[in-house]
Amino acid sequence: MYKSILIANRGEIAVRIQKTCKKMGIRTVQIFSEADEDSLAVKLADKSILVGPAQAAQSYLQSEKIVKVAVEEEVDAIHPGYGFLSENAAFAKMVEDSKCDFIGPSADTISLLGDKARAREEAIIAGLKVVPGTTKKLVDIDEATEVAETVGYPVMLKAAAGGGGRGIRIVENRAELAQAFAISSAEAEATFGDGNLYLEKVIKNARHIEVQIAGDGENFVHFYERDCSIQRRRQKVWEEAPAVCLDGKVRERVCEDALSLVSAVNYKGVGTVEFLYDQETDECYFIEVNTRIQVEHPVTEMITGLDLIELMINISSAKKLNLKQQDIKIAGHSIECRINAEDPENNFFPSPGRVDRLVVENRSGVRFDTMLFDKYVVTPFYDSLVGKLVVHAKDRPDAIKKLKKTLGDLRIEGISTTIPLHLELCSSKVVIDGDFDTEFLERYIEDKLKD
Ligand code: ADP
Ligand code: ADP
Ligand code: MG
Repeated sequence: MYKSILIANRGEIAVRIQKTCKKMGIRTVQIFSEADEDSLAVKLADKSILVGPAQAAQSYLQSEKIVKVAVEEEVDAIHPGYGFLSENAAFAKMVEDSKCDFIGPSADTISLLGDKARAREEAIIAGLKVVPGTTKKLVDIDEATEVAETVGYPVMLKAAAGGGGRGIRIVENRAELAQAFAISSAEAEATFGDGNLYLEKVIKNARHIEVQIAGDGENFVHFYERDCSIQRRRQKVWEEAPAVCLDGKVRERVCEDALSLVSAVNYKGVGTVEFLYDQETDECYFIEVNTRIQVEHPVTEMITGLDLIELMINISSAKKLNLKQQDIKIAGHSIECRINAEDPENNFFPSPGRVDRLVVENRSGVRFDTMLFDKYVVTPFYDSLVGKLVVHAKDRPDAIKKLKKTLGDLRIEGISTTIPLHLELCSSKVVIDGDFDTEFLERYIEDKLKD
């Protein structure tokens, strides 16, 4: 078993990873930027090391420097968290070639699945249904036009290297396609350093369903699904497990599909296979694989009682999955809401600054994953996520009730947060009825602006 781990991340996920390391008796080495000197992750770590200025490109994305620190500190492994270098195949390779382990899939797997167009090809080979569209990267506008005509408008142009909800553009008709193609390709090149695009039909009235999986290259298990349909700008805002919109048969099929794909690529580590569920046809279409821990992993932990970070560490260190499908049982319902330092009344404008007062009540079935503490100053340099409020109850109505009560009592003063939006969602009929799709929240926000 590992004795020490370097955490190549920041914020709530760095704190979350440290928590499991402590539980497992593993020493933590936390890297940090100049902006994070006073952060909770730094305070809690056994050792912390400054790696550069606030800008991520000069600190949290400095692959060589981070590997050098890991080697100098003689850690056994590096945990990349999510975002930053977590899905960077070159970084994973650099770690593989060093004396430490990369806690995640191999660099080869990351590069295969991180290319979303290639991942679609793999999914087709493994027998999954993918969203109708291109099977390979688009060569040119002519090809895009041809495929769009075949699958029918509206279509989406998506960056092969995209992530975090970025690099996606809807095209309504043929007239828009040529220009959209040029803009999307240039944007993808600028944002991800890779201008390659692929095309998918837009699935209307869809739910975002994803399956949590784990494997050691030979054995694979799934941890059932999450419903992450409540999104703004294609970023998840509210996530649940299980997905109450699926009947038993569809659930079984989507979980089996996820396993087929990860076993076809000899997946090692934990990961998530994402799908769009077409509520009209009951079809689940593969969209992508995230080869890392996801933001919303706590809802799965709540219903299974398992620690997915511990599992990641165990798989990486023992090179073996010590878990069988029949060991994984689910109970109750869990909901997570992402609390961002943003002002929902002002177009979600970022709201960094000092937290003057923080009141979090300890309740059973409630978990608050956060990097906040009283008087902490939220920096403007990174993602605006400051906490995830997660509840677990016997069923969905009870979970919503518990979430509403806990959100109502939670105090984060001094900065604006998305708590008021989540409180509204708890009282929204659409949410209570579970009758939403991936565009529900966008419509909801638009309608509010009109009032
Ligand atoms: P999840 O799939 O876990 O819900 P998100 O899409 O919310 O993940 O992304 C988690 C974090 O990682 C966010 O901070 C997001 O901006 C970042 N991220 C994800 N993919 C990329 C990418 N390809 N490039 C840059 N940042 C990314
Ligand atoms: P990312 O890599 O940024 O996470 P995804 O391919 O996972 O991108 O898509 C993010 C979100 O965009 C999905 O959850 C869904 O809401 C929307 N989306 C993606 N592809 C489609 C599609 N073909 N039809 C409708 N919505 C889509
Ligand atoms: Mg995705």
